[in-house]
Amino acid sequence: MKGKVYLVGAGPGDYKLMTLKGLECIRKSDVIVYDRLANINYLKEAKEDCEFINVGKASSNHLLPQGDINRLIADKALEGKVVTRLKGGDPYVFGRGGEEAEILRNENIDFEVVPGITSAIGGLCYAGIPITHRDHASSFHVITGHPRNDGKETKEIDWKALAHVKGTLVFLMGIANLKHISENLIKEGKDKNTPVAFISWATRYNQRVVTATLESAYEVAIKENIKPPTLIVVGTVVNLREKLNFFEEKPLFGKNILVTRSRTQSSTLVEKISDLGGNPIEIPTIKIEKIENNVELEEEINNLKDYSYIIFSSKNAVDIFFDKLNEMGYDSRALYNIKICAVGAETARHIKTRGINPDIVPKKYIAEELYEELKDIIEENDKILIPRAKNARGFLVEKLSKKCFVKEVLTYESVIDYSKKDELLDIMENENVDYITFASSSTVKNFMTLIGEGNINKLKLIKIISIGDITSKTIKEFDLDVYKQSDEATIASMIDAISNDKFNLNTGVLTC
Ligand code: SAH
Repeated sequence: MKGKVYLVGAGPGDYKLMTLKGLECIRKSDVIVYDRLANINYLKEAKEDCEFINVGKASSNHLLPQGDINRLIADKALEGKVVTRLKGGDPYVFGRGGEEAEILRNENIDFEVVPGITSAIGGLCYAGIPITHRDHASSFHVITGHPRNDGKETKEIDWKALAHVKGTLVFLMGIANLKHISENLIKEGKDKNTPVAFISWATRYNQRVVTATLESAYEVAIKENIKPPTLIVVGTVVNLREKLNFFEEKPLFGKNILVTRSRTQSSTLVEKISDLGGNPIEIPTIKIEKIENNVELEEEINNLKDYSYIIFSSKNAVDIFFDKLNEMGYDSRALYNIKICAVGAETARHIKTRGINPDIVPKKYIAEELYEELKDIIEENDKILIPRAKNARGFLVEKLSKKCFVKEVLTYESVIDYSKKDELLDIMENENVDYITFASSSTVKNFMTLIGEGNINKLKLIKIISIGDITSKTIKEFDLDVYKQSDEATIASMIDAISNDKFNLNTGVLTC
């Protein structure tokens, strides 16, 4: 049985700039072969047992020579596997995708090509440079700046023609040859004052754009230490950047933000940070371990008619409770006579997804506030059910028990997630982290355990954002300062705290 190969364009770097079809290929593949220009976050979308093979580093320094890559892809498909060959930008724009496809055809291997947004167009767009414009350029030309080095005759670039076309010139892989490029264009008659832009790591949070003229280009590139991957743009469209630069104006552009939450809960925060131009570095610190064969929970679900209140204080408690309810053949009607209380906006939202509008959601999302709301309305003969985490705070159970019957049922335990410990230590050592977000006391404690006592001092250089009073208190117990506490205990409010940070202007000011 022969497999199949998808040559997939991963787009220029921004995670959301890949096609739906490309994503679908990643999700169904047994093997993914990728190199450094493809955003590796896509690998998260792959099947659990998918094999990942990294075949490339710097553009001229492949970990694997092209011939071996071709062979590898073909062999995996011949083993009957579905293979995605993930390539930066578009697979057929200077990515040698054409050669890979030829080999597959020669060997009669089924393949498809999924186009991607090439950096030659998308990269310019994010730098605020429209590749064509009625007042500036009515064509564009994408050129390799990297001559062939395999001994075969180079298809020499027609510098004379390029110097005279009026369109925008975009050179890929051109940094090592910049001197040659600019000199040839000027020699053949291109105006030496033509604007030039260097766009490095285009569309990513670390995008950097430097402008020059054709004459000064080489000197500027040396002075500014410009390295691949960089696009070189030559043409007056570069001048539009000043007006159209939307991407670098985003409030969190260029910021590294460490997000510490349980894996299942961080997606909203991560998504918002990316939308605002920042780089979310997701470090899971908590893993939820559901209590299996929970006879006690089953018993209380069978006795629901006895209860007058149920209190949920986390999304996990909601999910586990309702999954069990459904599994036992009941649905939300089993709660028709019970008042439902939620601590936290996210908890409330999850209750709604189960078809129930919570009756009581305290304005401040903490247990103390719920107690304030409940203490005068509950009566002695009320019965309250609290399905919750094993290591959660005992405040509500303790206080409410003094007023009426309270039954707490443990449904899960949150434990430390060690899966990204090494990555975290590497980040603490090598990355310039601007902010770190803590959305609960347990994430603070687990995070400190993960980095180890010796590293806690390093957090003094990072702006710590806390979700609320209790989390802040725990942070301070580690002898650390809270840079900002969000006004409300919500993810949206945490985001506001970061994006409204007045020192967070993109003026090159170091933020730590
Ligand atoms: N197939 C790719 C190009 C591969 S050649 C595409 O369609 O975009 C590799 C060259 O592309 C790099 O040397 C660089 O010049 C350019 N490049 C690719 N992605 C880039 C990015 N995000 N930022 C800047 N240049 C990029």
